[in-house]
Amino acid sequence: MCGVFGIRAPGRDVARLSYFGLYALQHRGQESAGIAVSDDGRLTGLRDLGLVTQVFDEKKLSGLRGELAIGHTRYSTTGSNGWLNAQPLIHHGPVRTVALGHNGNLTNADALRAELGARLTSTSDSEVVAALIACDDRGLEDAAASALERLEGAASVVGLADGQLFAFRDAHGFRPLVLGRLGDDPVVASETCALDLVGAAYERDIEPGELVIADADGVRSVQVLDRADGGALCIFEFFYLARPDTRLDGVEVHGARVRMGERLAEEAPAVADLVLPIPDSGTPAAIGFSRASGIPFSEGLIKNRYVHRTFIHPEQGMREQGIRMKFNPLAEVAGKRLVIVDDSIVRGSTTRQIVQMLFDAGAAEVHVRVSSPPVVSPCYYGIDLASEEEMIAAGNSVEDVRRAIGATSLAYLSLEGLQASTLRPATALCRACLTREYPTRVPDATSKLRFEAVG
Ligand code: SF4
Repeated sequence: MCGVFGIRAPGRDVARLSYFGLYALQHRGQESAGIAVSDDGRLTGLRDLGLVTQVFDEKKLSGLRGELAIGHTRYSTTGSNGWLNAQPLIHHGPVRTVALGHNGNLTNADALRAELGARLTSTSDSEVVAALIACDDRGLEDAAASALERLEGAASVVGLADGQLFAFRDAHGFRPLVLGRLGDDPVVASETCALDLVGAAYERDIEPGELVIADADGVRSVQVLDRADGGALCIFEFFYLARPDTRLDGVEVHGARVRMGERLAEEAPAVADLVLPIPDSGTPAAIGFSRASGIPFSEGLIKNRYVHRTFIHPEQGMREQGIRMKFNPLAEVAGKRLVIVDDSIVRGSTTRQIVQMLFDAGAAEVHVRVSSPPVVSPCYYGIDLASEEEMIAAGNSVEDVRRAIGATSLAYLSLEGLQASTLRPATALCRACLTREYPTRVPDATSKLRFEAVG
């Protein structure tokens, strides 16, 4: 769960453009943000903990000059959320210095770290990618291609080295990465919404296994690895992570989520007075559910959009109100039979609190409808879900989960329904946290802090 951005645009303010690109990608990571620029081959970077708007101001942006830039917003999936692991990281190797931003999680990071040993300074898996490129004495294109060949797991990467911008995607393409143009200048980004914000036209998705290099000679592409079995774009991006206005593999996410809600209403109807989303990610599916069922849509739950991980923690007494920091129901729910629509249930604790809150507000019935199938297995490719023990649906029946969250009824969208809503074939998507069928080998155990001791 990170956002990456890159641009080559001599004569433009590349740091400012990266800032706006990151601003559009803020939903992919709120722990840290950073921008690195290349000015005639010389790399400068600035990164810090916090949101994009907290890390950068006019003064800091004006200090970042160059013709190339990359940016990163981070949500940690390997390594702690400390400053050391903020990106873009800058790695000084024996052959070159590399600035790099990575979205995804490597599944062979342990082996690569052991091989690279003392040359690493951070505790994330991303530095191994930079280190592989920085110690390779061939040209950048060969060095980056060779690094890509050695990675297992998920890697959508942007980087700067030798006065060039490079970007690549692992052979499965777990995380999105798109190429656009601002005039003639190439722009790469995790999601198309970042291209839209900076005024760049979408050109195409970077293919799984493809390396793109931009330098003074233009943009060139090398298909380094065969696209593994048609690719494995993360289905979670469709129903949860990506911004609704983004197009994933050419499919607008909002439309896909509305279709999920429509299909959910067909598969699991309910007799009710109002359909409410759990905002914001449940909203498009609730619109779809309302349209297909004819049950009126209501905002019902008002969300405080300014709650952030770094907020001041309430005192113990207040903390028990927990969920009210985020949501408050409207009076119109009193006496009504409600359908509440969410995009997913992982641990179940938030859903349970919301159901209780709605009953406390006088709801007569609360029917929970979920626009994805039960999440039953961890993600090794860059989404910080939870361990299997923490997942409420792993090992529990739908009726067990219904009882645990206190709902009047509970139903999930079928896997077929979800798949059909994305308009993508099953062979093009990773669905492993829903099916336990992983498209690659996965480690026996994984903890995001597993490299802290060596770091
Ligand atoms: S395991 Fe789940 S969350 Fe992870 S990449 Fe696959 S579909 Fe996405």
